[in-house]
Amino acid sequence: MYQTILLAVDFSKAAASVAQRAVRLADAGGAKLTLLHVVEYLPVLDFSGDPMAMTPMVIDEKLLLESARKSLQSFVDKHLGDVEVEQQVCIGTPKLDILRVVGEQKIDLLVIGSHGRHGFARLLGSTAAAVLNDCPCDVLAVRVKD
Ligand code: AMP
Repeated sequence: MYQTILLAVDFSKAAASVAQRAVRLADAGGAKLTLLHVVEYLPVLDFSGDPMAMTPMVIDEKLLLESARKSLQSFVDKHLGDVEVEQQVCIGTPKLDILRVVGEQKIDLLVIGSHGRHGFARLLGSTAAAVLNDCPCDVLAVRVKD
């Protein structure tokens, strides 16, 4: 049985059904369930494709994180009710930060959707494919249909 399960939440249409699957697995094995949302932040690039040293827009990371925390709490309230979960948010790149958290927190099962907000163009979405390639633990890619 798995003891530490990480659910990657992207707030897409399918996120609730992916979450239900993770909750059932955690329930069945008495596992700790952690939810992670990564706020995607793309730096402004210059003409050569490098991040610009000075961007005209100041990004308030504290505000971004606060808003992500609220969204994740609403997601839990709406879809998971009183299930006990840990919630985490960070700013970064989904595939990299999901893998970072898996490594840092000794996760033994990662639950993701086969597709999320990045589309249905391929068999697996871009985050799902990247994570499956490099993840050191088991991965459940819940099939998401359109
Ligand atoms: P994608 O491959 O990007 O279409 O997304 C597939 C799955 O990766 C989603 O169903 C989520 O489980 C996870 N995922 C994608 N983007 C994020 C994100 N920003 N934060 C957390 N998980 C994400």
